[in-house]
Amino acid sequence: MACRECGYTCELGPHYACMECFGPLEVRYDFPALTRADIESGPLNIWRYASLLPVRPDIAETPGTEPGWTRLVRADNLAAALGMRRLWIKDERGNPTHSFKDRVVAVSLAAAIEMGFKVLACPSTGNLANAVAAAAAKAGIRSVVLVPADLEIQKIIMTAVYGGTLVTVDGTYDDVNRLASELAGEHEDWAFVNVNVRPYYAEGSKTLGYEVAEQLGWRLPEQIVVPIASGAQLVKIDKGFREFAELGLVGGESWRVFGAQASGCAPVSAAFEAGQDVVKPVRPATIAKSLAIGDPADGPYVLDAVRRTGGAIADVSDDEIIDSIGLLASTEGIFAETAGGVVVGVLRKLLASGRLDPEAETVIINSGDGLKTLNAVPAGARAPAPIRPTLEAFRKAGLG
Ligand SMILES: *Cc1c(COP(=O)(O)O)cnc(C)c1O
Ligand SMILES: [Zn+2]
Repeated sequence: MACRECGYTCELGPHYACMECFGPLEVRYDFPALTRADIESGPLNIWRYASLLPVRPDIAETPGTEPGWTRLVRADNLAAALGMRRLWIKDERGNPTHSFKDRVVAVSLAAAIEMGFKVLACPSTGNLANAVAAAAAKAGIRSVVLVPADLEIQKIIMTAVYGGTLVTVDGTYDDVNRLASELAGEHEDWAFVNVNVRPYYAEGSKTLGYEVAEQLGWRLPEQIVVPIASGAQLVKIDKGFREFAELGLVGGESWRVFGAQASGCAPVSAAFEAGQDVVKPVRPATIAKSLAIGDPADGPYVLDAVRRTGGAIADVSDDEIIDSIGLLASTEGIFAETAGGVVVGVLRKLLASGRLDPEAETVIINSGDGLKTLNAVPAGARAPAPIRPTLEAFRKAGLG
């Protein structure tokens, strides 16, 4: 492992902060020689990339519920509506608990079991809670999940149903995260996936980048738009692209990474606009609760990746998020949660401002499922007044 700030290195193990400077640790690799055929012969889930991940997949087998290999959908209708040429949606609803968080949990669960932790835990903005509770249930270990009390009811139920310990906390996600860090200090055998096992957790998101490249036919997209909460997903998609390029699994093409936030919680977008390297924490107020992290751990690294690749970051209002959920649903038949609305909204905004090239091949990430955020849907998405079961009533209602 290596410190992302000072370069200090240490053996792979249950570490997450640098001994020298307290900076975040990251997993570094000496990769084996690897061919496309090696990967293609693997299972159709994230473990086809096991040789590029820091855990052994056989440690924590969850047969039948492995995440990954979600659909990459060619979005010609949405592209036409936006005046784009080639647009794809990586649709993460296909994971076991309907968000990309199943990827990061699978990797951190394997790491936790390998390192002897007894409990799988997390602070969460919702989707991580679902993924941790479900994976722990399947693996037969206890889960402890902490969430802000004002979370969407669907995400609360979808955590509680698996039977682990669910704690709702009066406070923001950042308060919940602080409490989790204190608990991690007290309970040495609890693996908080995104706190004390974070270096492993974060690596799980690389598989999103790998899959996009492989599903495009071993190519990288010219542009990719990614939602930002802590920022880990965006940073690791970029890392996955770089690794594939270094391994020679894709050609030498360049890519640009774009970040998407909700205006009600846009600390990284604000730092990008201001040309700053530090991210100033905010207090979130947005319907995009899955992205409502006011003090994002990977914020500075997001700025690095976006600036290095020549991308941009933008944010959209709650109204624009809801409108974009409607646009995606009505053009592509994909019902996204608020995070997906944020990404489509930012895609439109970056096209309008000329920062994103409509001619270039573009991938957008839909990281979650609209069924979990039924509070955030367009006004038209509700049951119409009922009619009597007669032809006459049907005609009278002007339905054709
Ligand atoms: C957690 C989450 C994200 C952002 O993940 P980070 O890696 O923390 O930036 C995006 N979309 C959804 C639906 C999420 O649940
Ligand atoms: Zn350091």
